[in-house]
Amino acid sequence: MNRMIGFLLFWLAACSVAAQSLPMRLPGGVTPLSYHLVLTIDPDQPSHHGEISIALKLQAASRSIRLNATDIKVSSAVLEMAGQSYPASVKVADNNLLDLIFAKPVPAGQGELKMTFTGRLDDQGSQGLFRQKEGGDWYAFTQFEATSARRAFPVFDEPGWKVPWTLALIIPAKLIAVANTAVAREVPLANGMKRVEFLTTPPLPSYLVAFGVGPFDVFDAGKVGNTPLRFITPRGRASEASYAASMTPTIVAKLEAYFGMAYPYGKLDVMALPITLNFGAMENPGLVTFAARILLAKPSAETVSFKRRFVAVQAHELAHQWFGDYVTMAWWDDLWLNESFASWMGDKITAQVAPEWRFETGTQQARAWAMHTDRLLSARRIHQPVNDGESLESAFDGITYSKGQAVLAMFETWLGADKFQAGVRRYMASHAWGNATGDDFVAAIAGGDVRLASAFKSFTEQAGIPRLNITLVCQGKPLLKLSQSRFLPKGSVPMSASLWQIPVTLRSPAGQAQVLLKEESTTLALPDATCPAWVEANVNGAGYYRPVYAGGELIKLMAKADLSVSELLAHLDDAQALTESGDLPLADALALALHYAQHPRREVSDAALDILNRIEPLFGVDQGAAYADLWQRAFGAHARALGLLDQATDSEDDRLTRARWVERLLDVGRDSALRAQAKELAQAWLRQPKSLDAASRGLVLRSAAIDGDRAFFDALVQAVLISPDRAERADIYSALARFAEPELAQAALRLWLSPQHDIREIMQSGRDHYRNEAAREAQFRFVKDNFAAISKRLPKESMARFPQFFAGFCSAGKAAEVEQFFTPLLASYEGGASHLKQSLESIRLCAVYRAAQQASLADFLLAR
Ligand SMILES: [Zn+2]
Repeated sequence: MNRMIGFLLFWLAACSVAAQSLPMRLPGGVTPLSYHLVLTIDPDQPSHHGEISIALKLQAASRSIRLNATDIKVSSAVLEMAGQSYPASVKVADNNLLDLIFAKPVPAGQGELKMTFTGRLDDQGSQGLFRQKEGGDWYAFTQFEATSARRAFPVFDEPGWKVPWTLALIIPAKLIAVANTAVAREVPLANGMKRVEFLTTPPLPSYLVAFGVGPFDVFDAGKVGNTPLRFITPRGRASEASYAASMTPTIVAKLEAYFGMAYPYGKLDVMALPITLNFGAMENPGLVTFAARILLAKPSAETVSFKRRFVAVQAHELAHQWFGDYVTMAWWDDLWLNESFASWMGDKITAQVAPEWRFETGTQQARAWAMHTDRLLSARRIHQPVNDGESLESAFDGITYSKGQAVLAMFETWLGADKFQAGVRRYMASHAWGNATGDDFVAAIAGGDVRLASAFKSFTEQAGIPRLNITLVCQGKPLLKLSQSRFLPKGSVPMSASLWQIPVTLRSPAGQAQVLLKEESTTLALPDATCPAWVEANVNGAGYYRPVYAGGELIKLMAKADLSVSELLAHLDDAQALTESGDLPLADALALALHYAQHPRREVSDAALDILNRIEPLFGVDQGAAYADLWQRAFGAHARALGLLDQATDSEDDRLTRARWVERLLDVGRDSALRAQAKELAQAWLRQPKSLDAASRGLVLRSAAIDGDRAFFDALVQAVLISPDRAERADIYSALARFAEPELAQAALRLWLSPQHDIREIMQSGRDHYRNEAAREAQFRFVKDNFAAISKRLPKESMARFPQFFAGFCSAGKAAEVEQFFTPLLASYEGGASHLKQSLESIRLCAVYRAAQQASLADFLLAR
């Protein structure tokens, strides 16, 4: 996952998720020891078959064995033990579970369980064993995290069973097969088939097994240290992996240096998947898979954003090769440890690989994103029990990735980077090739410091954001009063009190101090001789808490103190949140946004403009002009100077700013000069598609679509149908989703159901998180009218996330409508209930927010 995509987190989260039903855990009593798996796969065919042989140990005599299988038909099952054969009949217990019932009791001991089976290659989703057509060819791929290995073969599908796998694939002789390990040998077979045998893997849990079959191109990128590095792409696209090939060796080297150990696996293949839903990349050991749009680009499409996203995602996935793969969580409740560590490490390594990208501020983006979810009473805690499919599905969220990252960063700062790194290395060494828990990790980091371990757990074991109240008392020697509670927006009523052990680092003109706040409140003496002009209560923004300064001190602090970029980012995010909790008038936050929108550092002006984005729902339908005016004041001159097209003289920051904000100014800022320019450029592109490069194409087409007409709409539909290039199609679909004219907006939605279009491509490119109320309303109506038809075209795990599209509504009435519509539908989609609950809470809080800040907004607009 990549920080620059902030709100797209749910769609590009680096690792993926599957929905399953009860019961979650297999009964004890059986220990798998190793797997031998032979699968016959022809990607041209919609089904596969195979034989699996599982060495296992029965702890006690038994009449049955339960394992996982979903849509797998087992045709024979026999357990061989001590020279005896025990045939079993097969009973499907539910959609996840298979029972093998033996005619006679099987004694305790070691044996081989042999099964033959058939299954299905999914054409629609990207979970389990699935197939996709690219350039006229079928390819087969896998994505097994979290619980989808069972869709490919019968298996003990839990992360705690880490064992060696020996895989052979029987495939058409003209195709190529890749898997976690290198090919041991290939054997020609009759009927134009061959058998590809792979080396036995080091111990792996089932969710990390991976393979692919198809007419691939293989880009040999030489060696990284002793590790052969290759890129596996759809036919004809190997050269598009050039950028990835140029950056991957450095990423591996930096990770090896951090962990103090070599890359743990025998080879590293990186494979492109034409289209993925709900994930961007997956850390399969030795065979990392990527959505093609993140991994591959023609040289002309290697934009600034593409490069940064690739490096950040690759650093995340490769961090997992150690943290997640080499040492694996014991159970899914510690998924946070895998994901937050990889996100934290990914940003750290990216910052080392390309210091000029300044990825160290990624922690601030993680903090802001996490807090946006964590303000909700329905937010999960980081370490949450996982007992069913619902809790596992909902575990792949912003809390797991981003709050965990921000909390790791906080304790790294508190402890010091060297000590923290030593703790990580201790953890890796003591659980090599095995499984471990969050407790094991915290103990290794704390290195015997009980205080630190318990402080860390106060953040992982309870939900919510600590609110740190700060009051400066200047009668005599200056004192600072600190108190804590849960930070909540207005309209939230907490069920119980929360108490954290908060590592607070403070700075005043006289110097820096650290305190671990364990009590509800405390008073500190400041080192300053006289009353300090300011106190920074969250040095470098490293704390996962919201400082709330009494008496408008935040504004004074920002005016007077010399603040670091990270501090500014934290304060700007805090300022908007404080308007939600009622601690800061909206007018003050808007004044800050307008001021910092002019800041020379892109990250800071981004944070200022984010304030404008987040307050959009506060503007009523008749206040669009006032909102447009705000955008013009914040950003109009800068955006017009940047224009729509990349210039040779651009800095990378210029390009990122253009990509992120110019369209927004043109849209909500109603910028007529830029709109006219967009239309002209779009018309030229229709006549001559090469007239726009990959960096500008999406921006121009989307911009021209905002007030585009029917002729332009039809031309775009024609263009998307004939374009062979997925990146170009994504740009066109994203433009088609922008038409504001109501009939055209409906026509764009109807493409979801058209047989000529792939809804997965549209969903991936056409989402717009800043859509206005009217567009959201139109989309809601369309979804209500067509939910059943949409659900036939999308996999279940995508349907469960639909309520998130409507979390931007801002009235109690809309909350009731969304609730009424989705509640009965989502019962059958695991994870759906959690997504709905959080979306409803967001909508209701927004309604309270709008009412509470109405007067301050009116004051601000009047004072212009
Ligand atoms: Zn991950």
